Amino acid sequence: MSTTTQAAATGVVPSPDVVHDALVVGYGPVGQALTTLLAERGHSVLVVERWPQIYPLPRAGHIDHEVMRILQALGVADVIEEDSWKLSGYELRDSHGEVLHSFDWGHEAFSGWFSDYSLFQPQLEGLLHDRAASYPNVTFLRGWQGEEIRQTADGVELVIRAGVASEGVFDGGPTTDIVRGRYIVGCDGANSLVRKTYDMAAEDFGFEADWLVVFVEPNDPNHKVDMPDVAQLLDPARPTTAFRSSGKRFCRWEFMLMPGETAQSMSTPEVAWQLIERWGLNADNARLVRNTVFRFRSQVAYDFRHGRALVAGDAAHLMPPFLGQGMCSGLRDAKTLAWKLDLVLSGAADDCLLDTYTPERRPHVSSITESALKLGEIISVIDPERAKARDEALRTGEMKPPAPMPDIVDGILRRDPSGWLTENAGRLSIQARVRRDGVEARLDDLVGHGWTVITTGWDAAVALAPEAHGVIERLGASVVRIDADADITGAYAAWFADLGADWALLRPDFYLFAAASGPEALAAAITDLQGQLRLLPAGG
Ligand SMILES: Cc1cc2nc3c(=O)[nH]c(=O)nc-3n(C[C@H](O)[C@H](O)[C@H](O)COP(=O)(O)OP(=O)(O)OC[C@H]3O[C@@H](n4cnc5c(N)ncnc54)[C@H](O)[C@@H]3O)c2cc1C
Repeated sequence: MSTTTQAAATGVVPSPDVVHDALVVGYGPVGQALTTLLAERGHSVLVVERWPQIYPLPRAGHIDHEVMRILQALGVADVIEEDSWKLSGYELRDSHGEVLHSFDWGHEAFSGWFSDYSLFQPQLEGLLHDRAASYPNVTFLRGWQGEEIRQTADGVELVIRAGVASEGVFDGGPTTDIVRGRYIVGCDGANSLVRKTYDMAAEDFGFEADWLVVFVEPNDPNHKVDMPDVAQLLDPARPTTAFRSSGKRFCRWEFMLMPGETAQSMSTPEVAWQLIERWGLNADNARLVRNTVFRFRSQVAYDFRHGRALVAGDAAHLMPPFLGQGMCSGLRDAKTLAWKLDLVLSGAADDCLLDTYTPERRPHVSSITESALKLGEIISVIDPERAKARDEALRTGEMKPPAPMPDIVDGILRRDPSGWLTENAGRLSIQARVRRDGVEARLDDLVGHGWTVITTGWDAAVALAPEAHGVIERLGASVVRIDADADITGAYAAWFADLGADWALLRPDFYLFAAASGPEALAAAITDLQGQLRLLPAGG
């Protein structure tokens, strides 16, 4: 199946004298998100992407509520919600269809969105691109491949080559050029040029398996396929993942390849139709959108930074899609890296702030990868006797599902005088609907998605000393008081009770720098934050 018709390079290569704030190599969802987050802070971004158009074939389907909050910050969440399925849950079923375990997703979640959604990745990428393209400070070179990176004392140079993309193959031509930036971020996927250039070694978690991925679009948009929203069908004869929807129009399956089967033999339309026959879909009533064998791998780079080069998304980590968290993790990378780069590029913080990117993101994504692998071990059993034992262990609860989402455990987080993390530091904050100046909306829509100080019962604007306000101003932080009248649903009162706090200091990626009680503790936390960020004097 062709991934693109013939298309040539687009974009005008800027003069080599122009030094962009950031070169973003690779423009999948992670590169798109990072580009917008940097551009909206006023930084100049040059995007270099091999394919002239958005990659048209689907992969990711699932996102969670935290990622919806990131998409809200990117201005695309409402459209995504409209065109996605709200997932009711995730089931593990035995080969007879009995539900052995289920994760309940059918509820509103604490980030201010439904718990989990199923979307169509090309639609998401189209929306993210429209956002990035709306900024005049973004330059696009699409149909250009990054080929060689050189770091200088104060920047990076990237050698690029124009080419023609035809039938999913990039054919590099003779034209090369050089572009410059202060930093380069490799959002360039599993075979990242940036990661390879700097020998950024990766920890291999030891999982590798070939699965056939099938996407189908029923001809009748109202056709209801009789299957759960998301299920692992634990059939030792063929472990299978079934998604009733990917976006509103598509169905998706993943079929594990069995011993003796090859990618070539399993990649034919006939095999795909035969495997999904039992769900009543066939070439007469549906369109085969994709049938590709993927090798699922599990790797996390030891370091996401080398000098002025950083990596994000699949360039930094790979995991099998059993929890639907690969792209989600990449979008978290983008949100975290964007605020750090913003502070450095704007001259507010020293470059060493970027050293905190790896310790924040690596343990988080490693923990999720381990959970995905644990689930993978459960679902990939093909020996019938072991499968029976596994089913029984799931039925009785002896076999536990993977752990919930982790906190951030290192980096820019409030510590006590002995250096230990304070209670609440690193937890994901909530978002709920609030009333402010007569307007009712989700909090971020009213105060933005940068640094935020929330208090309840007292007013930080009044209680804090000028030094603390100086830091708040330098960070462009929002200060908001949420008392009972503003707290429409009571969610903030319950949250503060749970935290044992009356204020919270949120980072722009929504994780808590700290949450505790009283103005003195907040002032001390702000001083600590200033020190950890190594904020430079204004104009310095
Ligand atoms: C079958 C399957 C199902 C999945 N399901 C889910 C899911 O449900 N939920 C989820 O969160 N994740 C899921 N994932 C993972 C998700 O698809 C990826 O994590 C995500 O696409 C990674 O985004 P990215 O932007 O980091 O990289 P990519 O999307 O791989 O983009 C990288 C881009 O870089 C470009 N590029 C590479 N090298 C160069 C170069 N030298 N010069 C210029 N451009 C270059 C490429 O052309 C590409 O456009 C799934 C993955 C698979 C395979």
